[in-house]
Amino acid sequence: MDLERPLPTPITPECRPYWDGAREGKLMITKCRACGKPFMYPRVSCPFCASRDIGWVQASGRGRLYSFEIAHQILNKAFKVKTPVVLAMVELEEGPRLLSNLVGIAPDPKQIRCDMPVEVCFEKLTDEISLPMFRPAGGAR
Ligand SMILES: [Zn+2]
Repeated sequence: MDLERPLPTPITPECRPYWDGAREGKLMITKCRACGKPFMYPRVSCPFCASRDIGWVQASGRGRLYSFEIAHQILNKAFKVKTPVVLAMVELEEGPRLLSNLVGIAPDPKQIRCDMPVEVCFEKLTDEISLPMFRPAGGAR
């Protein structure tokens, strides 16, 4: 199999549930059990109250495009992705922001706008690794 991008290596226990969830088609985020606030990326302590009582919850997968960039050239030769590619910062309806890709839409700045509703989808790279991506909400499943 020709991989188009380097594979993530989920080696720490703090991030394992994220990748296990993605493999099962679930977007998992961390949530503090002490103050109740969700956050990403995974950490051993809450960025809001410093509690170490952290759990995982399944996010709805819905959010809005917070910001984006259309990359027409990938300078890192390890990434053999087809360009142009849309780099997307997505704000989940739960609050945390994730850096991902926007897919399922032409990489045309006339079609992509900040604050557009998006939903998660998954790109299976291997049996172990699936990447959460986002597409315009309401697209074909
Ligand atoms: Zn907290």
